[in-house]
Amino acid sequence: KDNTMKLEIPSKSQNEAFARVVVASFAAQLDPTIEELADIKTAVSEAVTNSIIHGYEDKIGKILIECSIEGQLLEIIIQDFGVGIPNVEEARVPFYTSRPELERSGMGFTVMETFMNGLEVYSEENKGTKIRMVK
Ligand code: ATP
Ligand code: MG
Repeated sequence: KDNTMKLEIPSKSQNEAFARVVVASFAAQLDPTIEELADIKTAVSEAVTNSIIHGYEDKIGKILIECSIEGQLLEIIIQDFGVGIPNVEEARVPFYTSRPELERSGMGFTVMETFMNGLEVYSEENKGTKIRMVK
């Protein structure tokens, strides 16, 4: 790896914007276009929001963010230790949400998939969720 960083934050809503800016700053060394940077920010927002809202629901837990750069490739890993996803395949279907009462649209994973060049989701019930994205 040419460069790496690790960030650990509690799942507080104000940390969503913080995480997005930190990852964007790290990505800046790759000289991304404005559009690429916007895509990265949006994807990070979606993943961190999911950990805050779904992973930990109303408690506060740990969110780990790891980024690395190798050549022109940026890898972003976002992990929580919350409730996990019982069925990842179903959760990734566009418009699927387990929280329609919160007016969620169920498009988070679809957005991450569209704006990044690869999305892997690993999750285990009551252990947590780990997302890996590359750009
Ligand atoms: P939106 O992102 O559009 O506001 P959403 O969060 O429900 O709505 P997705 O982000 O696509 O939609 O996630 C789909 C579903 O996957 C969620 O409703 C939730 O059930 C589950 N999920 C996603 N991330 C996590 C996570 N970190 N921990 C537990 N469950 C998750
Ligand atoms: Mg979401």
